[in-house]
Amino acid sequence: MKLCLLVALVVMRLLVAVQGQTNSAAASISTNIVLWPTLSYANFMVDAPDQIKRRQLWNYFLIVEREAKRLAGTLDHWEPLKTVKLGPGGPMWFSGGTLRLSDVSDHGAMFHEIFHNDFNRSQFHQGDDNGWGEGFCDAFRYMMEKKYVPGPRTSWFEYLDSFTYLTYEQVMAKSGDKHFDQTYFYPASLIIRKSGKDFERFTALWFELQALHQRRHSDVLNSYFGYNIQKGKPL
Ligand SMILES: [Zn+2]
Repeated sequence: MKLCLLVALVVMRLLVAVQGQTNSAAASISTNIVLWPTLSYANFMVDAPDQIKRRQLWNYFLIVEREAKRLAGTLDHWEPLKTVKLGPGGPMWFSGGTLRLSDVSDHGAMFHEIFHNDFNRSQFHQGDDNGWGEGFCDAFRYMMEKKYVPGPRTSWFEYLDSFTYLTYEQVMAKSGDKHFDQTYFYPASLIIRKSGKDFERFTALWFELQALHQRRHSDVLNSYFGYNIQKGKPL
């Protein structure tokens, strides 16, 4: 009996030590934690029935939110996320700092929603450029899956990647939902192509195009990508 108690105590000590290491690793991921506040685990998918999946999503959240903050550039272009909640319906971004995921949402859906936070405070959140929001969120998701998610690639990734080898006509010929593909996948594939499928080039492109918008005081995205996002057709 005493031996059991001793073993239990040793195991508990070890667990506490491992927990401590996990916490410090998580803390070191988020640099400038005061300047760039992040939500606490207590506000992340708190009602999730699958706590193992919740923890996996959280680990991705910490990494990908940090990348999204880098793409915001400055604090005034970032609205701190306060809650990621579980709810019915599809994944959704809400102004005010809330993301909603469903119990079947995967990490990729979360990456997309996180980037809405960047887009909605960017130079592009106005005029015709605003139509490019879904394309940019999917392009960001693609970059994050490529950089951080170990293989095999998700079917979502493979599907979008296949678009980068096709013409508009070929995409439309095989599309099951033309309006969706014209708004999400096809513009995303144009952004990914211009970025050479490389996250650093995507980052540079994101900042350069915003600078261009600011200099010109006008829309730039339709003409830059040769695609009219409002009509869903090449120029
Ligand atoms: Zn979206």
